[in-house]
Amino acid sequence: MQTIDPTTGNRIKSYHQTSVSQIDAILNRTEKSFQSWRCLSFKERGVIMKKAASMLRVNKDQYARLMALEMGKPLPQGQGEIEKCASVCEFYAEHAEAFLFPEPVKTEASKSFITFEPLGIVLAVMPWNFPFWQVFRCAAPTLMAGNAMVLKHASNVCGCALAIERIFKDAGCPPGLFSNVLVSGSKVKDLIEHPLVVAVSFTGSTQVGKSIASHAGEALKKTVLELGGSDPYIVLEDADVEYAAETCVNSRLINGGQSCISAKRFIVVSEIFKEFEERFTTKMLMQRMGPPLHEGVTLGPLARHDLRYQLHGQVDRSARQGAKLLLGGAVPLGPGSFYPPTVLTRVRPGMAAYQEELFGPVAALIEVTDEHEAIQTANDTIFGLGAAIFTGDLKRGERLAKELRAGCCFVNASVSSDARLPFGGIKQSGYGRELGIMGIREFINIKTVYVK
Ligand code: NAP
Repeated sequence: MQTIDPTTGNRIKSYHQTSVSQIDAILNRTEKSFQSWRCLSFKERGVIMKKAASMLRVNKDQYARLMALEMGKPLPQGQGEIEKCASVCEFYAEHAEAFLFPEPVKTEASKSFITFEPLGIVLAVMPWNFPFWQVFRCAAPTLMAGNAMVLKHASNVCGCALAIERIFKDAGCPPGLFSNVLVSGSKVKDLIEHPLVVAVSFTGSTQVGKSIASHAGEALKKTVLELGGSDPYIVLEDADVEYAAETCVNSRLINGGQSCISAKRFIVVSEIFKEFEERFTTKMLMQRMGPPLHEGVTLGPLARHDLRYQLHGQVDRSARQGAKLLLGGAVPLGPGSFYPPTVLTRVRPGMAAYQEELFGPVAALIEVTDEHEAIQTANDTIFGLGAAIFTGDLKRGERLAKELRAGCCFVNASVSSDARLPFGGIKQSGYGRELGIMGIREFINIKTVYVK
C-alpha cells in the first residue's frame, strides 16, 4: 500500500499490508485488552480519554499537516478538525456514565432494571475525507462504553491511521485496545467474519456500505452505516439571500466539497433565483485554490486523482444533459488533483448533478416555483442525510423541516455534526446514529436484569 500527496502526485510512503496471521495476533491482543478495559470504571476510562484529548491539542499542527499531505485538507481546516476530535473525547469522558447509567423499570419483581454493557471488538472501516474526525467520533463513544476497536482506515491515509493508534496507546489505553490493520478493502470481509469481531461501524460510500452490510448480515453482526448524501439546501423568497449564499458556498466547499454533509443541491424559489445565482457564483469565484499548506488557500486538491476524474465526468454528463455551466468545469493543467469551484445551473431531474452525489467543489442550482415544489425536489433523492432551509420565518422553517426526509434538518444554518446531537441518515444514506446519547448506545448490550 502506498500514500500519494494529492498536491504533487508524488509518493509519500509505502506500507506492508497486515498479513492474515498478524491480523489474528492483533485481534487476540485487542480482545485481551478489552477484558481488562471493560472492568474499569467510567472515571478511569475518562482519564485516558481526556489524556487523548490533550495530546490531540498539543500536536494539533502536526496532525493537520499530516492530513494536508495525505489528502489535501487546507491547514486551518485540519486544525479545526483536530480540535473537534479533542472535544468529542472530552464530551464522552464527561457524559458516558450518565448516558449508560442503569435504568430501573418497575415490574412485579423485587428489582428489575436495564444495564448497558460493552460488546467487545468493534471493527471501524473509515473513509479518508475527515481522517481524524471520522475515527474519533466513532472511537470516543465506543471505547468509553467499554468496547475495543480495530480500525481499517482508507488506504490513502495510512499515516493518519498510525498517528491515531499512537494517540490511544500513549494516552494509556491497554496494549492494542485500539489497533490498526493496514489492509485494502478486499480484506474487510475476512475481518467482519473473524470470530472476535462483534460489530461493524462503516463510514463511506453507499455502494461499499451495501456490501459491508451484506457480509455483516451473513455473519449476524450489527452494523452502523454512515453513507453518502446529496444534501438539499432550500432558499425561500423571505430568506436573507446574502447570508444564505455565503452559508451555502461555505458548506459546498468545506473540505474541498468532500464531505457527506456538504450542501450539494441548492433549491431556490424563482422570486430570488437570479439574485441567489449571482451572489453564489461570485462567492465561488472568490475562493483561492492551491496547495493546502499555503496561507489563504480555501480549496486544496481533491484527495485522489481518480476522484477528480469521477467528479469531472459527472459535470460533463450534466452539461450534456442540458445543465448550464456558469463557472469552472475544466480540469486544470499541472500536477496534483485540483478541481476548480464549479457551478451548474438549470439542473433538472434525471441529470447526473440532480441525482448523484457530487463529492467535490461542484454546486447544482435548481429553480423551483414555491415551497411546495422545493420540498418535493429536496425529497426527490435516494439519499437522506442532512438538509437545510433558509427563511426569514422561523415557524415556517420548523414546519418545513418536518417535511424533509433526512437524518437532520437545519434552519438558517449549514448542516454540521456536533458531539451533543445524534448524527446519521435514512434511505441510502445509511442507518444507526453516531454522537449524542444515541451514538454511545449503538454498540452495547442492552441487558435486562430481573430479580424476583
Ligand atoms: P469508500 O470507497 O466507500 O471507502 C470507505 C472505506 O471503505 C475505506 O476504508 C475503503 O478502503 C473501504 N473499502 C473500499 N472498498 C471496499 C470493499 N469493497 N469492501 C470493504 N471495504 C471497502 O468511500 P470513500 O470514497 O473513501 O468516501 C467517500 C464516501 O463516504 C462518500 O460517499 C461520502 O458521502 C461518504 N461519507 C459519509 C459520511 C457519513 O457520515 N454519512 C462521512 C464521510 C464520508 P480503501 O481505501 O482501502 O479502498
